[in-house]
Amino acid sequence: MDRKIMGIVAVIGVILSAVLALATVDGAGVSPDEALARLKEGNAHFLAEAPTHRNRDMARREVTARQGQFPLAMILSCSDSRVPVEILFDQGVGDIFSVRTAGNVSGVMQLGSLEYGAEHLGARLLVVLGHSKCGAVTAVAKNAKEPGNIPAAVAPIVPVVKAVRDAHPGASDDDVAGMAAIQNVFQVIADIYAGSPVLRGMARSGRIKVVGAFYHIESGKVDWLGPHPEEARLVADGAS
Ligand SMILES: [Zn+2]
Repeated sequence: MDRKIMGIVAVIGVILSAVLALATVDGAGVSPDEALARLKEGNAHFLAEAPTHRNRDMARREVTARQGQFPLAMILSCSDSRVPVEILFDQGVGDIFSVRTAGNVSGVMQLGSLEYGAEHLGARLLVVLGHSKCGAVTAVAKNAKEPGNIPAAVAPIVPVVKAVRDAHPGASDDDVAGMAAIQNVFQVIADIYAGSPVLRGMARSGRIKVVGAFYHIESGKVDWLGPHPEEARLVADGAS
C-alpha cells in the first residue's frame, strides 16, 4: 500500500472515530439501562441544583441540525408546565424524544409518535412519566364537568380512577387522585402494549425497555416504578 493510500486510510479512520465518539455522546447505540442511568443521574443534578446544562448551547444545536437526532430516550409525560422533562432530567437539545398529553395518556397519535421514535430514531428506552397534583387525574377524580374535547382527552383515566375508588371506598377525591396518578402510569404502559404491536414486539425482543416513573412536583424528585408488573403477559406474542 503506497503512502498516499495509507494517508487516506488514516484520515478515514480519524473521521470514523470522531463520528463514533459523537454517537457515544448522543443516544445512538446507548442501551436502555445506560439511558436509564443517565436520566437518574440527570434528576440527581436537578435535585442538587447542580445541572450540567449539557447540550444546551449553539454548538449542540448546530451538530444536531447537521447530523440529525439520536435521542437518548422517549418520555411520555403530562403537558403540565411544571413537568419540563429536559430540565428535570438535566438533558438538552436532541436528548429526549418527548410526547406530552394531559394526564400522560396514550392514544393513536401518541403511539404513532412513539413508534417513530423507537423505529426511526433508535431510542431504546421509553419512560411513561406521571406526576403528583396532576390536573387531568384530579378532574376525573372529582368528576368535573369539562367542556369541549377535554372529556375525550381524559377518558383513558376514568377506569383507573374507578378501580382506585373501588379499592379505597372511603378515600377523599384528592387521595384517590394521588393514588390514581401512580396507577395511571401502569395503565398507560398497558395501553401502549395493547395498542401498538410494533412497540410490544420491540419490548418482547428487548429492543426497547418501557418503564414507569413518577415526578413529585413538591420536591423535584423522580421515583422509578420499573416495568409493568405484568409485562411478560402484556408483551406476549398475540397479546392485545
Ligand atoms: Zn398532569
